[in-house]
Amino acid sequence: SFTTRASAQPLTNADDLIDSVETFIFDCDGVIWKGDKLIDGVPQTLDMLRSKGKRLVFVTNNSTKSRKQYGKKFETLGLNVNEEEIFASSFAAAAYLKSINFPKDKKVYVIGEEGILKELELAGYQYLGGPEDGGKKIELKPGYLMEHDESVGAVVVGFDRNFNYYKIQYGTLCIRENPGCFFIATNRDAVTHLTDAQEWAGGGSMVGAISGSTQREPLVVGKPSTFMMDYLANEFGILKSQICMVGDRLDTDILFGQNGGCKTLLVLSGVTTLPVLQNPDNSIQPDFYTNKISDFLSLKAA
Ligand code: PLP
Ligand code: CA
Repeated sequence: SFTTRASAQPLTNADDLIDSVETFIFDCDGVIWKGDKLIDGVPQTLDMLRSKGKRLVFVTNNSTKSRKQYGKKFETLGLNVNEEEIFASSFAAAAYLKSINFPKDKKVYVIGEEGILKELELAGYQYLGGPEDGGKKIELKPGYLMEHDESVGAVVVGFDRNFNYYKIQYGTLCIRENPGCFFIATNRDAVTHLTDAQEWAGGGSMVGAISGSTQREPLVVGKPSTFMMDYLANEFGILKSQICMVGDRLDTDILFGQNGGCKTLLVLSGVTTLPVLQNPDNSIQPDFYTNKISDFLSLKAA
């Protein structure tokens, strides 16, 4: 069905929004921090929301760190956030495997960085690949055949700064030679902002390579898929209509909130600019937009 959403409204009375929900889900990069830098006014804003009894949850598509590693990052930035409140796409990959009762005697082939390995380990899964395969090369001599471990029952693909042809071929073999093998993507972000100087190829580029060679579509566990939304709504026993999703990206965060039936707030402290939001070609309209989350502290009813 085709639905038209009203254009996003500038947030004018934060208290009305805050009073209308019991939970805030915050995207991380572009909302809480930018790279390693805390965004202005975040600690005071989170403290205010907690003092009002709001549940706070943090969701990131960046799979390079585990939940525990993100816990340290929040701590380093002086934020009082519990590991259990953090849902990274690395954690989501392991949680998804658990949700389908992925057998413990099967293995997971990982294309990605440390975060995914740590979460798989915590969940009790056997894995191979990851950074270890980063330096591997293929010598294409006549008759050469790559072997693969036939006990691999899932391939998990996330952002990987040491992506190479070996990993593409290994992951492809696992998926193509075993029709039952799961193909799971942590996220499909087209670009990411590793430096603020330019946009860099995101996790979607690694996922696209495996999708291209296998001609299969992955199961995405990160935003905008509803997996994490369903998972945390279930875990905390919260109604999705009682959630406000706050993010800086339209095609991941805002869509994630809308797919879940939540209220949505776009902040302009990350990648989306007002002209992009208001461009007639953009069909993703949040309920509200504002500059940054610390506007919650100043936008009061007149
Ligand atoms: N993936 C990678 C590799 C990133 O570096 C980032 C942002 O830094 C993201 C995804 C998006 O993260 P978030 O969902 O917190 O905006
Ligand atoms: Ca973001």
